[in-house]
Amino acid sequence: MHFSDLNLCPEINQAIKEQGYESPTPIQEKSIPAILAGRDVMAAAQTGTGKTAGFTLPMLEMLSKGPKVRSNQVRALVLTPTRELAAQVWQSVATYSKHLSLSCQVVYGGVKINPQMLKLRKGCDILVATPGRLLDLYQQNAVKFDQLELFVLDEADRMLDMGFIHDIKRVIKALPEKRQNLLFSATFSDDIRALAKGLINDPIEISV
Ligand code: AMP
Repeated sequence: MHFSDLNLCPEINQAIKEQGYESPTPIQEKSIPAILAGRDVMAAAQTGTGKTAGFTLPMLEMLSKGPKVRSNQVRALVLTPTRELAAQVWQSVATYSKHLSLSCQVVYGGVKINPQMLKLRKGCDILVATPGRLLDLYQQNAVKFDQLELFVLDEADRMLDMGFIHDIKRVIKALPEKRQNLLFSATFSDDIRALAKGLINDPIEISV
């Protein structure tokens, strides 16, 4: 399979080409069409499989078509367990979206909250965040989810291992009911399945 078979727009295909990628990885072959079709996806994939592009590329494709984001709003939210991963995902989003005019911000704990409040003021198409800091920002009305279309839970198994289950549930409660959900996890344990049950609708399950 070639990237050109995946119906991504020329701006995204150009960014992929500049990265030197020749063909989609197995997870990308499966996740990209499913996500573009608007389905909820539950994917078992380790780091190194290309999972980040697996959700980022179709996310960008969908966001490139929608409405303009309003003040403090977010159209796609990616939750990650650690700030290192948040920074990595943000970097990937920046790389793959460089020929599109979408805005992406990253927020995590351990640093001052005020500059983060400022950068969320205009709203952003994509927000990458760790759960605790996101909730702090939400409680202070710095981030709002009325325009949210897509929710991605990355490395869900690590999130649970790190004790984020209650934070994740609080985030989910704050999201609009009508949205698309993507859950990525290295494994599908019983705990992950239980979490997925309250999150995801009739998902396509992918494992590689
Ligand atoms: P990830 O599993 O998302 O952490 O990605 C692992 C690495 O694979 C990253 O360094 C990506 O830049 C790279 N990568 C992602 N997709 C592809 C692809 N289709 N072809 C070659 N490398 C890729």
